[in-house]
Formats: sequence, C-alpha cells, structure tokens
Amino acid sequence: MTKPNDSGPSSKPTSGREAGELGLVATPIGNLGDLTPRAADYLKAADSIACEDSRITIRLLQHLGIKKPLLSYHDHNADEMRPRLIERLRRGEKIALVSDAGTPLISDPGFKLVREAAAQGLAVTALPGPSAPIMALILSGLPTDRFLFLGFLAAKSAARRSELEEVAALRASLILFETAPRLVAALGDLRAVLGDRPAAVARELTKMFEEVRRGSLQELLDHYTEAGPPKGEIVIVVGPPLPAAEADAGDLDAALLKALAAMRVKEAAEAVAAASGLPKRQVYQRALELKQAQERDPERGDD
Ligand code: SAM
Repeated sequence: MTKPNDSGPSSKPTSGREAGELGLVATPIGNLGDLTPRAADYLKAADSIACEDSRITIRLLQHLGIKKPLLSYHDHNADEMRPRLIERLRRGEKIALVSDAGTPLISDPGFKLVREAAAQGLAVTALPGPSAPIMALILSGLPTDRFLFLGFLAAKSAARRSELEEVAALRASLILFETAPRLVAALGDLRAVLGDRPAAVARELTKMFEEVRRGSLQELLDHYTEAGPPKGEIVIVVGPPLPAAEADAGDLDAALLKALAAMRVKEAAEAVAAASGLPKRQVYQRALELKQAQERDPERGDD
C-alpha cells in the first residue's frame, strides 16, 4: 500500500510538460459515482497526490485502482510542506491536490499553495466537481443570485452571534457548515440574530439518507429541538433578510411580493407575518390573493 511521504521518487512529469502543474481535483462528498472521468484521468496521470488524510484518499484511489505516492498536506503541516510541493512542481511534477471530500480549498487547505504556485508562474488548473455548499444552496429553494459562504461559525454561542451580526444586513443567502451536535444551538442563534427567515438544513448530500428540510428558522429550530440532532454531515442555508422596512411601514403587498419571489405561499406568509407582527391568517390570505393574481398575470412578480 502506498504510504504518505514527501520523499518518494521524483518521476518525470507524465503530462509531457517541461514545468509541472498543480491540479485542484474535486472528489465525491459521499457518492463515489460523482468523481468525474476527467478527475479520475488526472489522478491517474499525476506524479503524486497531495491529500489531507491519506487513509481517506487511499480508499478513493483503491476504488479507482490507482496507486500513487501520497504527500500529506493539511492545516498542521501546510507551512512546512508548501515549499516542498512548490519545489516538486518546479522540477516538473504534476501534482493533484485533493481534500478529504468535495472541492479542495473550500473550507479545506490549499489557497496558499495556489497563491504561491501562481506567484512563481507555475501552472495551476482545476478539475471541478462536487461541493457541499453549492449543492445545499441549489437544493434549498432559496435565492441563488447572491450568496455568502460562511464556512464553519464559531463553536461558542456569543462568538457565533457576533459573526452573524456582521452579515445580518447583507441581501444575500447565507451558507454555513454545522456539526450535528451543535445544530440546535446554531439554529437558535440564527433565529435570534437574523429573525425568522426562510432556511434549509441539508444533510448527507449524495448519500443514501440525503435529506433537505426547508422551513422558517423557527420551524427548523422547533423540529430539531423536538427530534434531536440528526445524523451526518450538515449544511445550513438561510435566505436573505425579509423586506422588513416595507412590512413595518404597513406595505404588506410589497413585502409579500418580494417574499413570494423566493418562497412558497405558506413560507412567505409566515416570514412576512413574523417580520411585520401582523396576524398570520391575514397575511396568509393576502399572500394567496397575490399569488393567484400573479398566476393570472405572471408579469406581476419579479421571479
Ligand atoms: N471542501 C468540501 C466541499 O467542497 O464540500 C467541504 C469541506 S468542510 C471541511 C466539511 C463540511 O462540509 C462538513 O462538516 C459538512 O458541513 C459539509 N459536508 C461535506 N459533505 C457533506 C455532505 N455529503 N452532506 C452535507 N454536508 C456535507
């Protein structure tokens, strides 16, 4: 079995290039079928593979029937390893960088390596593929035109709330990672700082028990408080701020039309009722009327 090392034989570049190349290779986030053929070819052609945890990467390589020298590159050795990887690239090696799962550099090591390689004029390419935050966003049913990826928030509630306060006013969907044991506490902080916005909890994406639960932050908080923490890996997506100013000013229709552009009638009514303080039933009734009017005359909405 191939062992992680940094001193394996420096083979000639298989790509035939004089200079080396760093390839950022996305790997599956659960379902092995999601590795692209191009990514597999790149791994096969690489001289070596830089990875976070060799035990995880070896499993993927065994599945592909590939044996390659593995170079360890993770948060705790990156400063030491980076110059060695750069030196290998300068000697003409083709190095594939993978993370444990998904797209490398996205909440995973690698950006300083790319920065350094680019600064030295070395070739860098990417083999795109799975990434949990993007998959969660597109499944959330929330606006995708503007979004901010926050990675993991702080583990402690006070620090987490202040991180959320910094972004609360942004008109963008928010994407964040959370662990199952902290999900309820995180939803509580999201609800407290951002208000009762529409949101989604996506877990076990591409795996057998893939699930996307959509609802307002309060509904999700209530659900997981009662059901207990779910199993598996989780991404939370939260919709942009509701048009509270309009709702406060009594312009219910404007608030509802904006909300209806991003949500179903029930969710839009609940969100606007929460933001405006108006009775849910009244807001729901009006949301239904607006939706029906939109369906009769589609140009009315701004989808
Ligand atoms: N670079 C990775 C990517 O592009 O997906 C993300 C790495 S980050 C260290 C790992 C986090 O991504 C997990 O803690 C979880 O929040 C999320 N994640 C990874 N795989 C997932 C999956 N199959 N379903 C849901 N969330 C996932």
